[in-house]
Amino acid sequence: MNENVNKSGTGKTNGDAARMATNGAIVPASELSLRSAIAVDAPNTIEVEHIVKKYGDFTAVNDVSFGVKEGEIFGLLGPNGAGKSTLIRMMTTLIPITSGFARIAGHDVTKEPDAARRMMGVIPQALTSDLDLTVEGNMVIYAKLYDVPAKRRKEAIDELLETVDLTKWRDAQTKTLSGGMRRRLEIARGLVHSPKIFFLDEPTTGLDPVSRVAVWEMLTAIKAKRKLTVLITTHYMDEADRLCNRIAIVDHGKLVALDTPEALKATVPGSTVIEVQFENMPPDWEERLQHLPGVTSVQNESAGMYRVLTTNGSGTTTDLVEIAVVSKVTLKTLTVQNTTLDDVFVYYTGRQLRDELVKAHAFVMPPRPGMNP
Ligand code: ADP
Repeated sequence: MNENVNKSGTGKTNGDAARMATNGAIVPASELSLRSAIAVDAPNTIEVEHIVKKYGDFTAVNDVSFGVKEGEIFGLLGPNGAGKSTLIRMMTTLIPITSGFARIAGHDVTKEPDAARRMMGVIPQALTSDLDLTVEGNMVIYAKLYDVPAKRRKEAIDELLETVDLTKWRDAQTKTLSGGMRRRLEIARGLVHSPKIFFLDEPTTGLDPVSRVAVWEMLTAIKAKRKLTVLITTHYMDEADRLCNRIAIVDHGKLVALDTPEALKATVPGSTVIEVQFENMPPDWEERLQHLPGVTSVQNESAGMYRVLTTNGSGTTTDLVEIAVVSKVTLKTLTVQNTTLDDVFVYYTGRQLRDELVKAHAFVMPPRPGMNP
């Protein structure tokens, strides 16, 4: 498995000049995008080759290889249990690698773990800031831990707290912060030693939509100021689509797809998605929809609601209306849209992201009072 997995190279675009923000507002894609063009010849700052992690007889990560270019935002997506966190833990020196290797800014994480660690900032899934310290106290501890010189420390903390909009909270006890503010503090803390590479494991899971947008806006601001390579896992496809230069999809420990969001969407058969809701359907309705010309897939999402992928958007739209009239089925709603990353996810993993989201929320760790970094 290598970086050429599913490289279509055609880079189909979907004309998405504006998107629905997570809080429901329409925002121009350019305003929220972290993405900047990455030179094809930019060096790899993360190199993972044939990496394997076994727990006894169980293979959690199975021969995964990829490279992340300097300045790139690289998304790691996959269902729960796919192996994303295990991959991040290996790359960040937290657990030993069974076989294969990972290099961070040229440092082999097994042979030179300290040098690799100095190059990286890591934001794990669980919130780890010390609740009994102040916001500034949390920053200072990390700065000392990473040997940031005293002279540089204050300047770095001031700048980062300003960027994450927590300056006026610097003397507040961390326990008084909301989940979103705590996450922002932890992101600032993870950058205090000016790492070159930033690992974020589901930084927005469990946050409300407004806090999610705030976290991304903040990352945008940081990315504009620093030359940072970002590797991020998220359950939110809209985030990944908008923010990542490239996306790797992992399933059952294997890399199943890797490319730009646009190229991945172009690999899904059927360029148009029709969401259609019917009432009073006969039992073989889904099968009949599947046989319409141009239709490549039909997913029954909920009672009466179908997601139809087709290579012929206008033809299938007409066919759906006609078949409903002829069969005396009520057509309640019909919307036409381009392929999304959700479709890519379903295509490569066979699972609905929605199911994964429900599970993800069920597994969100509650804040652990008193837990130290
Ligand atoms: P993801 O982050 O994609 O949800 P993980 O990397 O956490 O997935 O887990 C991948 C697989 O490895 C899962 O099946 C999980 O149960 C298993 N796993 C993770 N950590 C351990 C461990 N310490 N011991 C045994 N199995 C583990």
